[in-house]
Amino acid sequence: MNGHSQAPFASSEVEMPRTGVSTSLDTNGIRAEFPGLAGGWHYLDTAATAQKPQAVIDATVRAMGADYATVHRGVYARSANMTVAYEAARERVARFIGGKADEVVFVRGATEGINLVAHSYPNKGRVLLSVLEHHSNIVPWQLAGWQVDVCPLTTDGCINLDAAEAMLTNEHTMVAFAHVSNVLGSTLDAARAAKLAHGVGAKLLLDGCQAVPRMEVDVAALDCDFYVFSGHKLYGPTGIGALWGRAELLEAMPPWQGGGSMIDKVTFEKTTYAPAPARFEAGTPAIVEVMGLHAAIDYVEHIGLPAIHAHETALVSQLRDALRRRNDITLFGPDNAAGIVSFAMEGVHPHDLGTILDESGVAIRAGHHCAQPLMEHLGVPVTARASFGLYSDADDIAALLAGIERTRRIFG
Ligand code: PMP
Repeated sequence: MNGHSQAPFASSEVEMPRTGVSTSLDTNGIRAEFPGLAGGWHYLDTAATAQKPQAVIDATVRAMGADYATVHRGVYARSANMTVAYEAARERVARFIGGKADEVVFVRGATEGINLVAHSYPNKGRVLLSVLEHHSNIVPWQLAGWQVDVCPLTTDGCINLDAAEAMLTNEHTMVAFAHVSNVLGSTLDAARAAKLAHGVGAKLLLDGCQAVPRMEVDVAALDCDFYVFSGHKLYGPTGIGALWGRAELLEAMPPWQGGGSMIDKVTFEKTTYAPAPARFEAGTPAIVEVMGLHAAIDYVEHIGLPAIHAHETALVSQLRDALRRRNDITLFGPDNAAGIVSFAMEGVHPHDLGTILDESGVAIRAGHHCAQPLMEHLGVPVTARASFGLYSDADDIAALLAGIERTRRIFG
């Protein structure tokens, strides 16, 4: 694997096609802020995990170094300061997605957030999922004993809300959909999904993993009931994410893990619990990662989500147009996909394509993307996926297209 060594990756065999995306983002300046992109690496796997800007790295180094102390317990100033910073990060997450601070639970990531709701939501009944869900929005519901129903997709790969409307009954107590698909890039009409869910008395959980890094999210406007996302896809650290839930729903949910920090009073006879969100944060939290998440949100908002969205949308259309001009590529997902392009190349396994691209310093994802039911629906075992971030640019696309052409020559 090449990783991001110093090699001049562009293949001399194949000329790089000229490309012409121009957006308001200064990607040269931005790329210089990402040590992980040094050496001219064409990183097209941001949907899996985003590279980190220096500001995030610096924030975690500070939190683990000069500022380090525990939270919520210490009587000394350093710990009190860290507690203030920890709670300020909660406020920051709330402001970022339009909720209130006491509605934000820090979790390890979207996976843990969905597991928490699936286990603790008191009114377990039927949950409506969709064909395109990530395994982390399927398996937790199965494990927690919910009856799972599956909403089909439209032909261009969006969750079919007409079908959802026909399927929903008053036995459904939850609807849980991806806000943006990690394979197809399709965006849910979340406000309509909320209306449909609420129409039968169900709640709506949105898996926002792929939405928060590429579009403005306002949970109040979406009218959802739970929203989850992972920090590492938002240019922040791994091991941290957030679950937002309506205050009255969180308050009605019992704790799902026991330990320090989540209690009110403990005796061997009876234990009472802290109010939400502390009730759901058992144990010493991910203090360092929370500081990194705060810095990541500051960074993303400094660049601006409308600009990031426009930038990634322009890159998606440029790549889809270029791939459509080839006669050996099948494209999946809608034309207005958010930051993500999945495709198959005739006669070439995506793993072979991924390996050859890696030799040219282009990193794509080849696999089932933790969405095996969707692969079955598409009739393929795996797809190739290129996904963009705020640092992606036309040179990345040119390198990918050159690598695809090189692969074609190898495979004939
Ligand atoms: N949902 C979606 C749509 C995702 O893309 C991912 C990560 N690929 C997840 C959930 C799970 O996120 P994590 O592994 O960070 O918990």
